Amino acid sequence: MVEIRLTNTKSRGKEIFRPIDPARVGLYICGPTVYDRAHLGNARPVVVFDVLVRLLRHVYGADHVTYVRNFTDVDDKINATALARQQAGAPGTLEDLIRERTEETIGWYHADMDALGAARPDFEPRATDYIGQMIEMIEVLIVRGHAYAAEGHVLFDVRSYPEYGRLSGRSVDDMIAGARVEVAPFKRDPMDFVLWKPSDDGLPGWDSPWGRGRPGWHIECSAMSYELLGESFDIHAGGIDLQFPHHENEIAQSCCAHPHGQFANVWLHNEMLQVEGKKMSKSLGNFFTVRDLLDQGIPGEVIRYVLMQTHYRSPMDWTEEKAVAARSKLEDYVWMAEKYADLAKARMIGPHEAVVAALADDLNTHAALMALDRMANQSDLVTDLVANLDFLGLIKLDQMGARIGELREKVAGLASYAEKLQALRDVAKQTKDFAPVDSFKEMLTNAGVAVQMGREGVELAPMAHFDANELKGL
Ligand code: AMP
Ligand code: ZN
Repeated sequence: MVEIRLTNTKSRGKEIFRPIDPARVGLYICGPTVYDRAHLGNARPVVVFDVLVRLLRHVYGADHVTYVRNFTDVDDKINATALARQQAGAPGTLEDLIRERTEETIGWYHADMDALGAARPDFEPRATDYIGQMIEMIEVLIVRGHAYAAEGHVLFDVRSYPEYGRLSGRSVDDMIAGARVEVAPFKRDPMDFVLWKPSDDGLPGWDSPWGRGRPGWHIECSAMSYELLGESFDIHAGGIDLQFPHHENEIAQSCCAHPHGQFANVWLHNEMLQVEGKKMSKSLGNFFTVRDLLDQGIPGEVIRYVLMQTHYRSPMDWTEEKAVAARSKLEDYVWMAEKYADLAKARMIGPHEAVVAALADDLNTHAALMALDRMANQSDLVTDLVANLDFLGLIKLDQMGARIGELREKVAGLASYAEKLQALRDVAKQTKDFAPVDSFKEMLTNAGVAVQMGREGVELAPMAHFDANELKGL
């Protein structure tokens, strides 16, 4: 069996991955708060961990992996949007409008992540469907002496859990010094965090032993992962920005509520997608959405390829040059497939061992893409290339036939221009005036056509930025 190595934030080292039960590998990824469109940074963990799931399914079997990613649908920003809509005269109760907002955002999220070739998780729990389980977990924490109720709130008592801070390798006192902690008179310690908080009459709330209120964000993931994966599971993942406080708090809650469990054995954190050295985020305003890029005509597979070029533990930027290069590379691959691939045979072959080995080495997606390049350079490996583009979620095998068809159409459309260029060339050979040939060639090049003129004749091929409309005037 392939040995997978992953960098576990908990141990700060690359470890051999050993599932608790290879027949039931479980992983939980912190999903989005569904108040607005996902930005490109939010897509990074989705793509990275989609690749991980593909690898795990390959190694342990498709039916032996359970992939959970939640939707956080309890949030002040969702409430604010719903309230604004109500004030603007939208019909329905606030609950209806909140539901409407989260449904619409989840629909966008699915469409955008589908476009990036990311498979849907097996479970996509919504926080609002697990409020009862959260209340139960909070009650257990109170009974065990790890939480206390005060003024309609319930707080986790961080001093009751000596391991608090271990994931980040920091002590509670260090964290207090570095963190923006909310000071409140009812807190025993400034680091104590909210498990439950009261809701005003105008806001969504659920009845609880501590009055009408709503859960804190951290308890959502602890309750949902417990319900769907149990008290010990294999992998918990998310962006590095969630390591503290979110993941520290999840560990404290889950390990104190279920002291016999391990919670997550492996913690994986992706580094940030940045803009000019700063994390892309809604709050900094330095973001663009996945939909913005798709609307600009950048295919989802190109976005995915660019995200896969950088190792998940390194920060990265999005640049237009990267997108242009990725696009032309993927088009080259379709060309190669048109010439050399046997699509029926591609269905029979699994991922190439070089691709699997690259991914098994702490998800080295960059090396996996390099392996694709090597396959593209050998005509007898192009069928493997096609199979691996499918495996990596870049171009689905089901779609390769259609993609080849599109390319052929483009080429067929170029035939008359090739004839015209050849005719101009024949004339120029007589007149020795090659200017008309050069200017026609230049116009073709500007429209995105690669022009090759050899002894045997003229060959035209569409390049990545080829636009048939630009040829119309020629
Ligand atoms: P949020 O909705 O902000 O909680 O984010 C959803 C997921 O996106 C989490 O796993 C975050 O860690 C991740 N994330 C947010 N911003 C970025 C970014 N700029 N680069 C990479 N991942 C990010
Ligand atoms: Zn979480």
